[in-house]
Amino acid sequence: MNVLIVEDERKLADVLEHILKEEKYIVDAAYNGNDGLAYALTGTYDVIILDVMLPGMNGFDIVRRMRNEKNSTPVLMLTAKGEINDRVHGLDCGADDYMQKPFSSDELLARIRALTRRQGEIVLEVMEYGDLTLRLDNHELSCRDKSVRLSLKEYEVLKLLVVNKNQVLTKDIIITKVWGYDSEAENNNLEAYISFLRKKLTYLESGVMIDVLRKVGYTLKYEKNG
Ligand code: CA
Repeated sequence: MNVLIVEDERKLADVLEHILKEEKYIVDAAYNGNDGLAYALTGTYDVIILDVMLPGMNGFDIVRRMRNEKNSTPVLMLTAKGEINDRVHGLDCGADDYMQKPFSSDELLARIRALTRRQGEIVLEVMEYGDLTLRLDNHELSCRDKSVRLSLKEYEVLKLLVVNKNQVLTKDIIITKVWGYDSEAENNNLEAYISFLRKKLTYLESGVMIDVLRKVGYTLKYEKNG
């Protein structure tokens, strides 16, 4: 899957690139509007992430030019806070979806998956770890015959730990991925969600534990019960 990022904020472009590469996407980045349009018109991308305010040519003009040239690559536009008009304008110009900054990596990936999903593609609906099954559609976590519903943030934190099950994730990484790259979520916030999750694991009588290592990060551990 090939993704083009057109974003002049270098730091954000790098974050996007990192998130997408971790998911095994092949990523190109352009840092101004003219390069962005030239790359987009090659027609070699499965999806394009397009910022609105860009030096050279803005995001709206890029989509309009693409559609005029009969280029139908799906476009996800990035809008800044409060730019609701941008969103409407973007969709009018031929963008397929929009996303407001700041966003979490899960939201970004979900939108990209939705834009690139082909008809008939089978979507993974559950994730398993130890004796746990996590449903991706309704965020239900179950262990044998017991189940609980996770809140969105609990779900995102747990999913991240399951995906990276053999690693220790630092608090910073978890906060960046779940709350967004410029979020003001504090360590305390994360600790609260970890404690909610631990309570739910206890309730489920699961053998899965969230381990804290040297007070820097978290990882999952599984010990088979009885
Ligand atoms: Ca910009």
